[in-house]
Amino acid sequence: MPNDALFAEALTHFPGGVSSPVRAFKSVGGHPKFFKKAWGAWFEDEDDTRYLDLCMSWGPLIHGHANKEILAIVAETMREGLTFGAPSRRELALARRIKEMVPYIEKMRFVSSGTEAVMSALRAARGFTKRDLILKFDGCYHGHSDSLLVKAGSGLATFGEPTSAGVPKAFADLTLVLSLDDPEALEATFAKHGSDLAAAIIEPIPANNGLLLQDRSFLQRLRELCTKYGTVLIFDEVISGFRVAPGGAAELFGITPDMVTFGKIIGGGMPVGLYGGRKDIMGMVSPDGPVYQAGTLSGNPVAMAAGLATLQRLTPGVYRDLEAKSERWAKTFEKIPGLHAPRIASLIWPLFQPEVKRADRVESGAIAQFSRLHKLMLEEEVYLAPSGYEVAFLSTAHGDAEFTHFERAVEKIAAQW
Ligand SMILES: *Cc1c(COP(=O)(O)O)cnc(C)c1O
Repeated sequence: MPNDALFAEALTHFPGGVSSPVRAFKSVGGHPKFFKKAWGAWFEDEDDTRYLDLCMSWGPLIHGHANKEILAIVAETMREGLTFGAPSRRELALARRIKEMVPYIEKMRFVSSGTEAVMSALRAARGFTKRDLILKFDGCYHGHSDSLLVKAGSGLATFGEPTSAGVPKAFADLTLVLSLDDPEALEATFAKHGSDLAAAIIEPIPANNGLLLQDRSFLQRLRELCTKYGTVLIFDEVISGFRVAPGGAAELFGITPDMVTFGKIIGGGMPVGLYGGRKDIMGMVSPDGPVYQAGTLSGNPVAMAAGLATLQRLTPGVYRDLEAKSERWAKTFEKIPGLHAPRIASLIWPLFQPEVKRADRVESGAIAQFSRLHKLMLEEEVYLAPSGYEVAFLSTAHGDAEFTHFERAVEKIAAQW
């Protein structure tokens, strides 16, 4: 069946025809593609068109699609059973590797998604501090749990308002929302509410509202204020974890949070999330402590094997290589008139305005220009994430042939822009 026929049927089964909303192409126009297979940096849709992928399943595929070595390990693991619902040595192997890469983690728990990791980390922080209030930042995404589908209300340093129907106002009332890159508001908020704040959660490298790169001093001040007020600092490294450095943004900035959440790369394409950090806080989690959290498929052996195989292949050479590559790809992006490409490690944001640090500084005109770029790129068989608020992800599979394909597409688009 061709893409459009599949989409017509999908609309009869699923809201918007999709299993996750941004896939519906609403913000760029047109219809989503249905993919049937993928390899390396490429995937092929049901119309038999091959695309160079710059979305890479939104981050997990740092070694490319269907990496042969990883697939072989996953296949072998599957033959021994898909799930046990009981402990297995594979959880320990992945935990050991994680502690090597992220040495400040004392204890951890595996879950099955980033959303679940964040939701559980917040519960542990609330249980530990016996406080209810949390602080988040406008422009950071932390999954879709109730407490976090909240945006700033009107005025400075306010309690939030739900961003989704179905989120009780009572949840939003427990979530404070601040702008990124606003040290004064940060000081004022902690002065007023610090001793009531259970947790402050931030993407240290905010990469879900474009790429809003923060000054180290802002994160450092947040760290100090959390320490001063006994607030649990949670770094949400679901995207930045294992991507920007072996130890994520915490390593890159030299700032240690109390808790961290991971997802995406940690499962190498299988559903895995993790929350962890200080052992006194993790000691609150059941069965050791009173904070309940559980999962039928948590620590799933196949997912653990995929995650371990992925992390084992993240060597210093891989990070160096991705860094050099990303610089080259970002420069090439900038051949398109008006496009700036803020980047860090292998994350690049194609943005039609100069770099910004705050969500409210992103201009709607810039996002409209992205939609045009998205469409032209598809015609050149380059697949960008279908929203101007999403970053591009490079992988080890984006090599010279892929670069040539990309450069040709950019030059063609630049000539007609
Ligand atoms: C993707 C993401 C999540 C949510 O993870 P899911 O696996 O989609 O639930 C949470 N936080 C950040 C920073 C993310 O990028």
